[in-house]
Amino acid sequence: MTHPTTMILARYADGGRGLDDAALWSIEAHLDACAQCRGQLAENLTPATTELLDRVAVSLDQAMHTSPPPARRRARAAAVHRRWLAWTLLPWLAVTVAVLGCGVLLNAAEPSLPSLVLLLAPVAPLPGVAVAWSRRIDPAWELIAATPAAGLAMVLRRALAVLVVVLPALLVAGVGTGTSLALILLPCLAFTAATLALGAFVGVRRAAIGLGAAWSTAVLLPSVAAESLSPLLQPGSNAAWAVTTVALAAATPLAATRFRRLTSGN
Ligand SMILES: [Zn+2]
Repeated sequence: MTHPTTMILARYADGGRGLDDAALWSIEAHLDACAQCRGQLAENLTPATTELLDRVAVSLDQAMHTSPPPARRRARAAAVHRRWLAWTLLPWLAVTVAVLGCGVLLNAAEPSLPSLVLLLAPVAPLPGVAVAWSRRIDPAWELIAATPAAGLAMVLRRALAVLVVVLPALLVAGVGTGTSLALILLPCLAFTAATLALGAFVGVRRAAIGLGAAWSTAVLLPSVAAESLSPLLQPGSNAAWAVTTVALAAATPLAATRFRRLTSGN
């Protein structure tokens, strides 16, 4: 490193008279990196410059003490952490509601089919719940996964947000069809709880896909093919659905620590 000479530093300290722009820039760049020359520059300051620097220091000090404290950003951060409904959920919820609407129309057009709303109710919340805790779909997952609010509480909040949309849609779809509303709601809640309980071990997305596929192949498609409702959805099965829902909901908090991270399976 070539240090500027004492004479050049003295000229620089005196306002840079006689130094061209290139020389001034190279001195400034050097002073940024060289404490020795900065010390030498301080010794060469003119009284006018020293006085100017003192005045700037005093006024800065006053401004810092009299200005309001910087705005806290906790409110916005908290809003991000506690988002009940990621915007990414909306398209999935719209598709769910549209599918239920199609079920109602199909039943109206073809009365011999078993109630499609009843058959779709258990799987209706699954797309939304799968998206609720997915690193593939939530663009803010890195931010969210790093916050203390992440984990089971966030999954439950988002699952609840899904249910707040899906349950009224199911009720509206079910009221006109004359089917038991309890038999629509209880399987919906049971499958939501099952997705979360199973999701603790295999990832919520995989659990939702697996349960949705299992219900479709074991109950939904055979019922439609046979034009007869599965025994699982007959009026007498209410109590079994209620017990299953409560048991699964009680089991999910036991696996709370497994929701601390969004792993590659999510
Ligand atoms: Zn130097």
